[in-house]
Amino acid sequence: MAEQEESAALIARAAATHRLTEAELVQLLGDAAATEQLAAAADRVRHDYVGDGVHLRGLIEFSNICRQNCMYCGLRRDNGKTERYRLDAATIVELARKAKGYGYHTVVLQSGEDAYFTVPRLCAIIRDIKKLDMAITLSLGERPREEYAAFRAAGADRYLLRIETTDRDLYEKYDPGMSWANRDRCLRDLRELGYEVGTGTLVGLPGQTLAMLARDILYYQALDADMLGIGPLIPNGDTPLGTAKPGDFALTRRMVSLLRLLLPEANIPATTAMETMVPRGRELILASGANVVMPNVTEGDYRRKYALYPGKICVADTPADCRHCMGGRIKAMGRYVAEDKGFRRHRLCQG
Ligand code: SAH
Ligand code: SF4
Repeated sequence: MAEQEESAALIARAAATHRLTEAELVQLLGDAAATEQLAAAADRVRHDYVGDGVHLRGLIEFSNICRQNCMYCGLRRDNGKTERYRLDAATIVELARKAKGYGYHTVVLQSGEDAYFTVPRLCAIIRDIKKLDMAITLSLGERPREEYAAFRAAGADRYLLRIETTDRDLYEKYDPGMSWANRDRCLRDLRELGYEVGTGTLVGLPGQTLAMLARDILYYQALDADMLGIGPLIPNGDTPLGTAKPGDFALTRRMVSLLRLLLPEANIPATTAMETMVPRGRELILASGANVVMPNVTEGDYRRKYALYPGKICVADTPADCRHCMGGRIKAMGRYVAEDKGFRRHRLCQG
């Protein structure tokens, strides 16, 4: 069979059965000519399983202080150029209250691995935000199981922790001092504690192969991940990976589409990094399998200072601008802003 026909047959099978082998995933990830066909199939599966609603999650970047040293990230502890900040509890809760006012039903609290935010401090913030009747997603990095349990008991609903890559050696090369086994442990603990678990891949780490990306997808399927955030590496000049090649946008897009085909019920964001790379990148990804956007609700200069990578979009905008802009863009696509809290809907029959 010609490559084109072979890919078309694989896409049709994946859309119907939600299963592919590692070799089949490698073939589709590597087939640039299949990008549009994959996106169209993923868009249909997205429509059938999670509908036309787009969930907006308000992102609060509450501290850029980090004890880790990931080689790609601007918040790494050895980056002396980052102007560090930490929002206080009252400011974080106030940002959540304003997010509620803009019509968001979920806030994502994201930060570097900042030890100042102990269990009592974070639990107090979580409890205050829960009084606003909002869902809470945490994205604070690796913590012991007991801490995850305490946040969950205080009311946290979801947790985002990208595995970045399932290749142990590659992970430990670019996340020095961290262990892949511990990251995997965190995800399993979060799952057992009843969180909706979000994870994902950083596409374009030097040395990452298509087979590794294929294994990432199979890992997410085995974990039964609820959310999947995929983004291309955007080299940050203030980090050791500053001169690396940027992640491939089209490859990242094919990966998003394949994730929708293989994990049809998952919540999949169109990530900000996609739009940093390509104007209107989030619309393109929303039309390629994604159903979530995480507009920034952090205010003022903190947006600029939370610089994982350069060229971050909308740093001069206000949260109201972002809400208005995304709402309009979603409507223009013939989709709508979902009005519920956006928990995963389980549709597949078990067994
Ligand atoms: N400290 C937490 C959350 C903040 S970092 C954690 O590490 O989980 C959130 C995500 O930003 C990371 O998972 C990583 O995939 C992404 N990121 C960091 N630097 C990046 C870069 N240069 N380009 C693209 N994404 C990057
Ligand atoms: Fe810290 Fe997260 Fe950046 Fe790693 S990716 S340096 S843990 S903020």
